[in-house]
Amino acid sequence: MKKALARDLAAHIRRIDEELHLSPHELPGGAAARPLKKPAARRPAAAASAPASAPVPASSFGELEKEVKSCRRCALGSHRLNAVFGVGSPKARVMFVGEGPGFQEDHQGEPFVGRSGQLLDKILDTVLGLKRSEVYIANIVKCHPMVNPDNPESHGNDRPPSPEEIAVCRPYLERQIALIKPGCIVTLGSVATKVLLGVEEGISKIRGKWYVYPRNLFGGDADIKLLPTYHPAALLRNPKLKLDTWEDMKMLKSFLESEAGGGAGPMAG
Ligand code: SF4
Repeated sequence: MKKALARDLAAHIRRIDEELHLSPHELPGGAAARPLKKPAARRPAAAASAPASAPVPASSFGELEKEVKSCRRCALGSHRLNAVFGVGSPKARVMFVGEGPGFQEDHQGEPFVGRSGQLLDKILDTVLGLKRSEVYIANIVKCHPMVNPDNPESHGNDRPPSPEEIAVCRPYLERQIALIKPGCIVTLGSVATKVLLGVEEGISKIRGKWYVYPRNLFGGDADIKLLPTYHPAALLRNPKLKLDTWEDMKMLKSFLESEAGGGAGPMAG
């Protein structure tokens, strides 16, 4: 009986790995033989040491989107093709936060629509059983940071946002968080994680554990749990990271299921 259960579990895990394009050489010893890491004990909020932003006034989601779409508060606003506000349900229980728009996102006005976005959609669907319309996806900065801002039509023109650009744009994200009130936030990659948690460690050191995003940083009623994981672009560059990401998403799934009282249905309202 136990052997049959183990066989079923192994087959199930391998099917998910295949969906995520994990080839056997990425699974030394086989994923089924490798126990999932226990969720780490929650640590005190690392973000408590981050510079606090003043709580921001509430506004409706529509008003906030309009404000962002016409924003020129930093130089990125002068060269973007589209401000990329965010996508998904304003009632989502989980919010994914990336770094900033790239070429495709700037052209389409939606976050995570290139190859990284397709992989994120696949992870959402395969591991969490969710569509992008059932979560919320946004970035730290809303306009495309370019190496050469005079040429938004060139590929490979992306760069990380500067600390100044992040500081100016971050209040929009905080207002989104305050309006959505998600049960948890998943930061995608080092930049988003460092900004929201105020930590210096790289993503490989801090991923896979729950942290706390304190209410005073976004003017909310309650702290929000935060789970850092790899950016999908990192998985495209290094497929070996998919296994860790899969483990992180299993942690997220457990959290969402416990929050929903064990239900397996969509977590968004
Ligand atoms: S990046 Fe943010 S602050 Fe800068 S122009 Fe765009 S929306 Fe405004």
